[in-house]
Amino acid sequence: MKCLNCDAQMTNVTVKTKKDSISYDVCPKCGSLWLDSGELDKMAFRVEGSIEYCEAAKDPAPEDQPKKCPRCDDCTLDKVKFLESDTIFLHRCPNCGGFWLDSGQLDLVDRELARIMPVEGHGFSDFVNNIHVPYWFQRVQQPSSKTDFEVHVMPLQGAELTGRTDDRCPNGDSLLNKYSIFSMEFEGCPKCKGVWLIQDELRELKNRIDDGSLRWMNDEIENLEKSGAVASNLACPKGHGNMVSVMFGNSKVVADWCPVCHGTWLDRGAFDKIIDYLEDESSTVNPKILEKQLMEDLRKVWRGAPEGRIEELRDAGSTLHALLNAGIFEHPDLFRIMMGTPRM
Ligand SMILES: [Zn+2]
Ligand SMILES: [Zn+2]
Ligand SMILES: [Zn+2]
Ligand SMILES: [Zn+2]
Repeated sequence: MKCLNCDAQMTNVTVKTKKDSISYDVCPKCGSLWLDSGELDKMAFRVEGSIEYCEAAKDPAPEDQPKKCPRCDDCTLDKVKFLESDTIFLHRCPNCGGFWLDSGQLDLVDRELARIMPVEGHGFSDFVNNIHVPYWFQRVQQPSSKTDFEVHVMPLQGAELTGRTDDRCPNGDSLLNKYSIFSMEFEGCPKCKGVWLIQDELRELKNRIDDGSLRWMNDEIENLEKSGAVASNLACPKGHGNMVSVMFGNSKVVADWCPVCHGTWLDRGAFDKIIDYLEDESSTVNPKILEKQLMEDLRKVWRGAPEGRIEELRDAGSTLHALLNAGIFEHPDLFRIMMGTPRM
């Protein structure tokens, strides 16, 4: 492993404690640290709960030079807030969950922890600086190159490999594999990490992200085929000839779509960009406006119904909730009938 800041060969340090062993890679030149998923928690064994759960918002300030994960093939590290801190931004790999800490950041993390949950004992820096503490048995140092390993990158994060196919990747670099995620199957390329989604799979997949918060964001997907298609030079993996390139909504995300089987090809990372885009879109829609619109539409549909029925529907929030629960947004045809809009 090379240091992401100064390109020096890192040193792996494995510290054995009574119950466990902790491993980290440190740059001998600048003091930056790489901690694989779980190692930061292990270092903080006196702290209750996990301190690696620092989802939070990404740092709004874009980086001049994005850092790439030392373990995962071509994965850019996310800048994430450490716990609730507004000032400590660490780098975390979205694929393997490892953390990159620039020199001095461990001290900041240490201080932040001491502030929010004071614990007895020595800090992280003492640990890394090898200041003797009785329950550390043994410390082994060796060049990181001796302990380096690679973490496999799935086409969609969290997916599992379930089998192989005879379908050729549109980019021509491999045969596609079968994967499953959220108990859904899809095909993807083990090389270029592109994803092939048949018919309704893109919508299905999106519906299962974030506990279904994007279930009603269907416009862009419904309209994919109409969105300024231009001929693509990628061929449908199912042998239907060249696909067409389509723009996803108002985003800059380009997908390739087969006019014959209606499958969609997404290049590496495109699905995440689509989800980011939909989340942005959904956050700009004021729920009140949405509810009002829905209420008006419902009124039209229920026009002529007995007065009492309208009263029942007056609580737009609960109506929306009921509709969501009924999964109506997952059935576009049913939704159109309800809303009285003609089939496009
Ligand atoms: Zn360095
Ligand atoms: Zn990684
Ligand atoms: Zn490929
Ligand atoms: Zn096709």
